[in-house]
Amino acid sequence: MISVETALARVLAGLAPLPPETVALPQTAGRVLAADIAAGVSHPPLRVSSMDGWAVQAADTASSPVVLAQIGESAAARPFGGSVGPGQCVRIFTGAAIPSGADAIVRQEDVERVEGGARIGQTVAAGTFVRPPGLDFATGDRLLTAGCILDYRRIGLAAAMNRAWLPVRRRPRVAVLSTGDELRMPGEPLGTAQIPGSNGPALVALAQAHGAEALHLGIAADTVESLAAMIGGGHDLLVISGGASVGDHDVVGDVLAQAGMTRDFWKVAMRPGKPLMFGRLGTMPVLGLPGNPVSALVSAVLFLVPMLKALSGLPAAPLPRTARLGRDLPANDERQDYLRAALVGDVATPFVKQDSAVLSGFASADALVIRPPFAPAAEAGDAVDVITL
Ligand code: AMP
Ligand code: MG
Repeated sequence: MISVETALARVLAGLAPLPPETVALPQTAGRVLAADIAAGVSHPPLRVSSMDGWAVQAADTASSPVVLAQIGESAAARPFGGSVGPGQCVRIFTGAAIPSGADAIVRQEDVERVEGGARIGQTVAAGTFVRPPGLDFATGDRLLTAGCILDYRRIGLAAAMNRAWLPVRRRPRVAVLSTGDELRMPGEPLGTAQIPGSNGPALVALAQAHGAEALHLGIAADTVESLAAMIGGGHDLLVISGGASVGDHDVVGDVLAQAGMTRDFWKVAMRPGKPLMFGRLGTMPVLGLPGNPVSALVSAVLFLVPMLKALSGLPAAPLPRTARLGRDLPANDERQDYLRAALVGDVATPFVKQDSAVLSGFASADALVIRPPFAPAAEAGDAVDVITL
């Protein structure tokens, strides 16, 4: 049995980010940027007004009110070609280029129109309501960094940078295979001693939530033939649930060995989830999860999610946060515990029922309380590490 830390290090060793692909900007939400991106334009491209008003020489407004002669108009995309001299002004709108000669904008609220010009009722300093070129960014500025997740703000920024396409990491292609003679697809009629398989849908959803293209291959029977026929290949990652334990019908290890898998490890000192198998079929990593639903999903949080991050070029998961225990706990044995718990504020109270088959408990938990191997008895109020779910 190896520790969780060793197992994670071995799972992640040799996992490199997938190659980039070029995707149209509006389709990049949630994707991981694969290269630094520089602005293709400056924003704003030239000196523009931040108000509807009048472009003037600030010096002319030193003693207001003052009447200035209008010599033209500057609208967004229709700049005024001339130059503003002393005693002159140009009608201007938000976002329009400020004509040469002018060095300030007077808001239209502070101006009264008069025959042939404008009566300026406000003294303004040079630079008032002037946005200099490149105020936001300049051509060549590297504003988006490889490894960031593209959200609506970054997609908007990329658009402003005049980038219509972005290089993003290819999504990891994950195949999930459930095993077990007793399992049926949810909704199928159930015979005696048959249950709906829950790991497949849950694992697909978890993988998708972490950027994967995930596919449930279906349910294999506990026979060498059935399993061998369904494993397939060509995925970035194969996840198999169930059949990895030591029972007579746990044939996953044998079938994978026959298929040529080199096994890296098989048992991890954790609870739930000791029978965790990892190996490689050719270059394809294979993660064999325990069948018990809570064991399968906690193992997936601890191992599958970091694998998907590594394949996507994302940094490793953040460290667990600290909370206060909501009740006393006995000393721990040699396995690292992940106790399903309610988390209210910073108080984590582990549920009394910790059976790895109790999926309803896991579904209602807010966090997993981590109990290291051989942790001494702990009391309510003690600090503990938690992983929020
Ligand atoms: P196994 O690891 O195959 O020995 O399975 C351990 C326990 O988990 C058994 O009670 C199985 O019925 C159950 N189990 C295995 N796979 C699933 C699944 N996909 N959904 C729900 N329960 C499962
Ligand atoms: Mg089974």
